[in-house]
Amino acid sequence: MKVGILGGGQLARMIALAGYPLDVEFIVLDPSDHAGATGLAEHLQGDYTDKALLAELAKKADVVTYEFENVPAEVAAFLAEHTRVYPAPNALSVSQDRLHEKEFFHQLNIPTAHYATIGSLEDLRQAMEHIKYPAILKSRRMGYDGKGQVFLKSEGQLAEAWDAVERVDCVVEGFVDFQREVSIIAARRANGEIAFYPLSENIHEKGILRVAECCVGDKLQQQAESYVVKLLDALDYVGVVALELFDVDGSFVANEFAPRVHNSGHWTIEGAETSQFENHLRAILNLPLGSTKARGYTGMVNFIGGLPTIESVLNIPNAHYHLYAKSPRKGRKVAHATVRADSKEEYSKSLQKLIELAKSTDDS
Ligand code: AMP
Repeated sequence: MKVGILGGGQLARMIALAGYPLDVEFIVLDPSDHAGATGLAEHLQGDYTDKALLAELAKKADVVTYEFENVPAEVAAFLAEHTRVYPAPNALSVSQDRLHEKEFFHQLNIPTAHYATIGSLEDLRQAMEHIKYPAILKSRRMGYDGKGQVFLKSEGQLAEAWDAVERVDCVVEGFVDFQREVSIIAARRANGEIAFYPLSENIHEKGILRVAECCVGDKLQQQAESYVVKLLDALDYVGVVALELFDVDGSFVANEFAPRVHNSGHWTIEGAETSQFENHLRAILNLPLGSTKARGYTGMVNFIGGLPTIESVLNIPNAHYHLYAKSPRKGRKVAHATVRADSKEEYSKSLQKLIELAKSTDDS
């Protein structure tokens, strides 16, 4: 079996690492000459829109998947004409446009922040007569890790904010005063079988995920599962999905979903019976899904912009280091560490040490 991946970064790297024990082979398409997965897979180097390379990828791979959602719709459609593509292009087209995504949530009766669609400064001014400050102006497309977003505090700021997003199509949404941010990661097979991971509680700073902690037995697990099932079934989805939610007084408001393996699920590598990467492969290869049960207390810390030494991470009990083979650059995710322990006390101590280490090397 050969799996093709659009993108050869850290997510592709971790998918490939999970596939090796199952004797799965990989081929990645990525423009850079050295990306995280290129040492683990055949590498087609070039642009994601290069038809000849896409045709080669489709020919060589039994199934194609991707590690980011901003794949141009025509690329996904082209691949789908020539081979199996999972998740299917419809999941991409919904998730890569914040307006379509919000409309989709509404069709499914999944609550979101109040929002309006913006195509001009006048639209923005009118929308802000109905949406309360603070609010966030977000570009409809190509946004990730807080990019293409402006926090709006007052009317006087609107013209400047519109310029800051470079006057592209946007949505504006009310700021959600949440108690916590969580995500639910789930895997679905073509026969409709679904496996849910325990919720992750996620801490962001400057719009970038810093820490994700597995919450076994969370009282809102069922609510999150009921939302993600609607989404998976409506899209006839195959693969792993991540749905990001705000917890507001015990009820969820959806932020966005990612049609792929997700940073908030990296703790599953050592912290779950079957990692999100392995379950993604099982789902797209139509194999039985593995148990998503957590193995004790577990979580993950991201390293952004700077890398601690291998020794400093491995000196922390219960820590496992995952390097992405990327050179450090400001704001760039370059590695993460997971922690897994049998006791809560041991877990919390190790997690705290990792958080301090990440702070000492942070460049974001
Ligand atoms: P996003 O790129 O939409 O995932 O936004 C990145 C992060 O910004 C989220 O994980 C939240 O921490 C924060 N954020 C985004 N939208 C909102 C909102 N409407 N209300 C409050 N915080 C938000």
